[in-house]
Order: sequence, then C-alpha cells, then structure tokens
Amino acid sequence: MEIAIIAHDGKKAEMVQFLNQYKTKFQEKNITIISTGTTGSKVENAGIEVTKMLSGPLGGDAQIAARVAEGKCNMVIFFRDPLEKHPHEPDVNMLMRLCDVHDVPLATNPATAELLVRGL
Ligand code: PGA
Repeated sequence: MEIAIIAHDGKKAEMVQFLNQYKTKFQEKNITIISTGTTGSKVENAGIEVTKMLSGPLGGDAQIAARVAEGKCNMVIFFRDPLEKHPHEPDVNMLMRLCDVHDVPLATNPATAELLVRGL
C-alpha cells in the first residue's frame, strides 16, 4: 500500500508529530510513503523511509495526483493550511479532485488523518 503525505508549510510541524505517533504502524503494515519534496525531507528526518517527489509548488502535488489517477497511490494525507495562499492551488485542487474521481481516501486535516490511519 502506498500513502502520500503532504503538508503545507504552516502544518509541517503538526505532520511530523503525527508521523512520530504512527511510524511504527506504517512500518508494521509495510506501507510505502511518498511525499512532496520539502515534506519528504521532514519525513526522512523523522526516521521514516520516503520517496520524494518535487516540491509542491514545483509540481509535487501534480506528480502525486498522477499516481492517484494511475491507481498507484492508495491514500492521501494532506495537512492543508487554510489560512495561507498557495501559488500551486490549482495542483492541490487537481489532487483532491482525482482522489474523488478514483475513490481514494483523502484526509485534509489531522483529525481525519488519524481516523484513516487507525482504520488501516
Ligand atoms: P512541499 O510541498 O512538501 O514541497 O513543501 C507541499 C505543498 O505545499 O503542496
């Protein structure tokens, strides 16, 4: 199973906290983690193996969206920051749309992410 982890800058600290809480579960369940570039570096620093895409504003969200469309990515955890503007908003919308098109579980905040991960 492949899970994408993405966090906007204002939410990266929360994302690391979340990962630390669930990293043993990810390892036990043999889950492959992919991330956008900067988020991926944080994931690595948390001691979790990760495949890094491009940074979000450079197309990383679009790369993950393509994997969702191709059936390669099975869950998306995206800690979005609703209080900031993002230059790559169209890519983010595309990712969320493709999750809906392909019925791929998508969490856009920590509370939902927790429910999804507990359900693994
Ligand atoms: P980043 O991208 O992990 O490269 O910061 C995340 C995003 O803003 O979509």
